[in-house]
Amino acid sequence: MSHDQLKKQLEERQAVLSRRVGKIHRDLQSEHSADSEEQAVERGNEPVLEALDEKILAELEALRLAVRRLEEGRYGVCVACEGEIPAARLEALPTTIRCLSCADLRGPLAG
Ligand SMILES: [Zn+2]
Repeated sequence: MSHDQLKKQLEERQAVLSRRVGKIHRDLQSEHSADSEEQAVERGNEPVLEALDEKILAELEALRLAVRRLEEGRYGVCVACEGEIPAARLEALPTTIRCLSCADLRGPLAG
């Protein structure tokens, strides 16, 4: 995939996630106003929405970083060992900044 295509793909993903974050925030707000008289009542899916929000914001941050690295010509280069990240790994995990062996050293969730 060319860098232009890749950048477009990353930016499209950013746009999708940004819209999703906006929707979550609207949902959270409408829940707040709907039950303002019953503050003590546990709000059903709000913690789920907040956890989702956090996850999406983390991915958005990773996408921003990926786009920046792309612009700087460092995309696909491992930040830890400066080795080349295999294309298959980038395809599966476009926002990764570490090669598989460096990611393994940091644990499976470090990316
Ligand atoms: Zn590495």
